[in-house]
Amino acid sequence: MVARTFFIGGNFKMNGSVESIKAIVDGLNAANLDGVNEVVIAPPALYLLDVVRNAKAPVQVAAQNSYSEASGAYTGEIAPQQLHDAGVPWVILGHSERRSLFGDSDKVVADKVKAALAAGLKVIACIGETLEERETGVTNQVCQRQLEAIAAVLEDKDWKDIVVAYEPVWAIGTGKVATVQQAQDVHADTRAWLAKRVSPAVAEATRIIYGGSVNGKNCGELGGAVDIDGFLVGGASLKPEFIEICKTHK
Ligand code: PGA
Repeated sequence: MVARTFFIGGNFKMNGSVESIKAIVDGLNAANLDGVNEVVIAPPALYLLDVVRNAKAPVQVAAQNSYSEASGAYTGEIAPQQLHDAGVPWVILGHSERRSLFGDSDKVVADKVKAALAAGLKVIACIGETLEERETGVTNQVCQRQLEAIAAVLEDKDWKDIVVAYEPVWAIGTGKVATVQQAQDVHADTRAWLAKRVSPAVAEATRIIYGGSVNGKNCGELGGAVDIDGFLVGGASLKPEFIEICKTHK
């Protein structure tokens, strides 16, 4: 049995300022995180360099998006090679807000994942169903379709650089957290799918983290579930309680 290092991501989304983000990083630096958990924060792109310079180990940095090309005439985009050059080791791809608001299809997400890995980045790859999809009983189909698009462009060796984030869309930013059982069920089904589609070894080693209204109160219970290997935290990553979430222990 492979021990999966517990992983906590903080997705600041389009929030914060030079000052407020510095305060969050200072707080994390002073928090004596023991390095047992992997902690990765994702500020808006504009602040990435500041955070790369200020964040101390074990705190790492992620971008919230990157493009599928290495350079060129793509106004407004950032290449994964540029993130790598700037010392950013991680990128979040396929977040439901990118999918629903900015047209990132399964194919676009897969192309971005492939390009990010090729540039030497590690990827937090997001999947998750809408409320309507859950209510019509197609949660697993949707998650597996999203993951299949990604699996199709990866080799087995690439999975060591992927963290899968299961984020039910109806739980994101709503305060309506999935129950431990709901999350555990999808995580277990996703792991079983990985075992079949990729390999049992990859399924065993890949972190599957949960996102959607995680906070300082519910993190302990969620983190106790056998197939929940960490969190992707939005709103609460901007608050002091994020430090408590970073200290969640299995
Ligand atoms: P939330 O966001 O914690 O605010 O629900 C999670 C996410 O979108 O990653």
